[in-house]
Formats: sequence, C-alpha cells, structure tokens
Amino acid sequence: MPGRSTHREAADRALIAEAYQSLARDGLVRHASGNVSLRQKNGFLITPSGIPAHDVTPESIVAMNAKGEPVSAGKPSSEWRFHRDIFAARKDVNAVVHTHSPAATALACQRRSLPPFHYMIALAGGDDVRCSDYALFGTQELSDAVLVALAGRKACLMANHGLVACGATLSEAMLVATEVEGLCDVYLRSLQAGPPILLSGAEMKAALAAFKTYGPNNAGRRA
Ligand SMILES: [Zn+2]
Repeated sequence: MPGRSTHREAADRALIAEAYQSLARDGLVRHASGNVSLRQKNGFLITPSGIPAHDVTPESIVAMNAKGEPVSAGKPSSEWRFHRDIFAARKDVNAVVHTHSPAATALACQRRSLPPFHYMIALAGGDDVRCSDYALFGTQELSDAVLVALAGRKACLMANHGLVACGATLSEAMLVATEVEGLCDVYLRSLQAGPPILLSGAEMKAALAAFKTYGPNNAGRRA
C-alpha cells in the first residue's frame, strides 16, 4: 500500500536500525548477535540475519507477515519465531529486543531468575525476571519456552543464551533491556558479597504500584 503506511514503515525501519546500532554502542550487542523487532499492521519488522550492527541500514530491515514469512528482501534474524509469537500472544507488546548482553547472559548461564533484590525489578512488570528453560536457538521449542518465562512480564532471561525485553514502544523495550542488563550486573556483584537481602512481597507490591503512575516505564510509552 502506497502513502501513509509506506512512510510509517520507512520511519520504523530507521528506528529499528538506530536502536540496534545503539545496543552495539552500549555493549549489549556484539557483532550480529541479538535482534530488534517492531509490530506493524499485518506483521512486524525485524533486524536481518548475520549483518553486523554497524552495517545494518533501514533498507536491510526485513518485513515479515504475521505468519513469519518474509515479505521484503533480505533474510530475517534466525530468532524471528519468538518475535512473531510474542506479538501474537501479547497485545500489550509492540516492540521486542533480544540481546546476549554480558551480565544477563552470565546469569542465564546459571539458569537463575533475577529475584526481587532491587525495586527496579518492577520495571519488568513483576517481582522477578524469570529464566526460561533451555532450547536450541531459532527453534519453536525456544519460542515456546520464552513465552512461558515472559508471562505477565516485559522481560525474561533465556537459559544459556541471553535476554528478551518487550515494550509498548521500541523506546520502552530498549529501556527494559538496558535496565535488566544493569540489574543483572548489580545482582552478580551483590552475590559476590553473599546472598543479597530480598525485598518482601509487600515492598515489591508498593514498588509495582508506584511504577504504574511514576517511573521510567512510562517514559515514551506512546510514540
Ligand atoms: Zn540469541
């Protein structure tokens, strides 16, 4: 369809390319690891397979239909399945960011969830950030495991793999990815001094309530 939808898609392609490059600049993505997607009217846009972040351009972003079939030139990220399935299952999610960022991946290799050791955990929508079961990259089995770990949350760890973060907007998904990576880093540091003191259920409930009306998760909620 020519006109507005084409302009919108062009703008979204540019947003995704810029987001992917900024993940690389911030050390969350190395070479061509990780991927970024954004919901469209009849599918989604996703970063390409195997192209290093600094070489990704708006034109190299791949358009996919809702079934997960490419409808533009290029080869989509090998992880397109869980992006497709998150968009299908989660109406609250319009953007997905996946990274192999060091701290989140280190914790995911322990197959540990991130417990309520810091109130900012509430940014991800609950009182923990779960770690999924392990499955081979690119498989439907992995997508299924991610959806289970992501239930009711905006982020999950992926066993022996990395991190998935979501948002109503791309800026929110990027914020969640960056914050969860930072929280995993602090949690790993804290563990070195012994098990951290965890917040109680009531304390996390208060933090979650406060985040609903005030906090970074509301920043840029509607693009
Ligand atoms: Zn990956």
